[in-house]
Amino acid sequence: MITTTEIQPHTEPRTGRADLLGLSRERLEEVLAPVVDRPFRARQIYRALYERAARDFSEMTDLPHELRLRLAEHFRLGLPEIASRHLSADGTCKYLFRLADGATIEAVDIPHRGRRTLCISSQAGCALACTFCVTGYWGAGRNLTAGEIVGQVLAIRADRGLSMEGLNVVFMGMGEPLLNLENVKTALDILMEWISPQRITVSTVGILPGLEEMARWDRRPSLAISLHAPDEERRGRIMPVNRTYPLAELMAALHRYPLEKGRKLTFEYVLIRDLNDRDEDADRLSRLLSGLRAKVNLIPINPDPVLGEHMVPPDDERIEAFKERLRRRGWIATVRRRRGDDVSAACGQLRAFGRAPRGRRTSK
Ligand code: SAH
Repeated sequence: MITTTEIQPHTEPRTGRADLLGLSRERLEEVLAPVVDRPFRARQIYRALYERAARDFSEMTDLPHELRLRLAEHFRLGLPEIASRHLSADGTCKYLFRLADGATIEAVDIPHRGRRTLCISSQAGCALACTFCVTGYWGAGRNLTAGEIVGQVLAIRADRGLSMEGLNVVFMGMGEPLLNLENVKTALDILMEWISPQRITVSTVGILPGLEEMARWDRRPSLAISLHAPDEERRGRIMPVNRTYPLAELMAALHRYPLEKGRKLTFEYVLIRDLNDRDEDADRLSRLLSGLRAKVNLIPINPDPVLGEHMVPPDDERIEAFKERLRRRGWIATVRRRRGDDVSAACGQLRAFGRAPRGRRTSK
């Protein structure tokens, strides 16, 4: 059984000021009602918070001065504090955020051809312990609040002077979004008011109750599944979660999952040398996916000293051959380019600092 701790640090203990960040439109209206003079003020504040990424009430210049002061007395905007940023040679920028209780999380800003993708975290760590992932190596952390999730997007936007325009958001940072689905849902509802659901991707190892719940939502983001191996035995070896939610049940759930017109499921497949990178593996993967509207994103593993020496990518020729094998069988297959690896911002390299790892494990 996988458990996570739920902490909601909404109210600042010292001043008692409640955090407005992460409140849905309806909640914001309720919370503000005793303080604002007219109902439409809540809408103005909602837009200032999320559309303009205001950092402070003083920036809400469309409100009367006196109201701004009153708001600052009662509320705060709990934007995550930027503890550090590391700019990679390829333009990727990794942010380390410090949260109100001292927890640290990472998010990455990835520019590409005039657009950008923000890769954000849903938990301050990860309990799943996949053997190829550095976040998992450092162990579990608490769930992020909806405010802390949306706050990463807002803080990066404010820091870089970005609007919501042309923004893609992927839940591929630290943590498993489907183990924090309530807060992730609130954050998604807010983000989806400005960013189309196709431009937001939630990546999951396949937590079945979470998938069943998402299947019932009115508006769904794009879905990416971390598959990584084409059979139960190998998936179980590198992803302990496969013992709780076996591959066969995951695939059955995905066949039932409602897909909007024109959309496809994305399958992420970390390529690890001599573990899952043979032509037979590509064939098995192809058979596993048959009948699904799907594309495959191959991710040559980003090695890291904590992962052990067997966790290395295949050579380029093998990667190409694997991709071609899938393509010949009719699949859209792409290779994810490494971004930001010189600042440890690449996939699976995000970690929270300031605590001990969960302990060494074997790498294969
Ligand atoms: N827990 C969710 C969200 C994290 S997404 C999930 O697993 O889908 C992070 C993506 O990077 C996942 O597909 C993950 O499997 C992949 N990843 C993890 N470690 C990696 C590594 N060392 N190299 C490349 N990709 C890695």
